Amino acid sequence: MKLPDVLTPDPDTGAYLLGEHAGSRWYLKQMIFTWRIVGCPITENGWPEEYAWDYPSHHVALTAITMFDPETMNEPPGYVKRKGDVRKAPRSDDHPRYNRARCLHGHYQADRDCPWPGCPTNPHTRQEQQ
Ligand SMILES: [Zn+2]
Repeated sequence: MKLPDVLTPDPDTGAYLLGEHAGSRWYLKQMIFTWRIVGCPITENGWPEEYAWDYPSHHVALTAITMFDPETMNEPPGYVKRKGDVRKAPRSDDHPRYNRARCLHGHYQADRDCPWPGCPTNPHTRQEQQ
């Protein structure tokens, strides 16, 4: 995502508007301990946030924003924490190496089992179904 030439904080939310891409309005917002990339619905007031990813500093978040293509990538790279819904990019099939399979709770199925009871990728749920 190309950064705007000037980042101006929104007077109501304090979030910096990054632009509108792939059906969402994107912001960078300072939290208490992190910086958050936020995707909101494109509506009159824009909030609440649908998608959010936290970064340890604004340097890391800005780097992630420049690498993030919301049309083909489900989420920006390098975040330390994800909040909100599991996002699916409109053209995620164009980027199969980056957009790996996830369960409905957002856990990458190749990385670790999902801890949620009842999730098909939870090892206890799998044992109960056998
Ligand atoms: Zn799950």
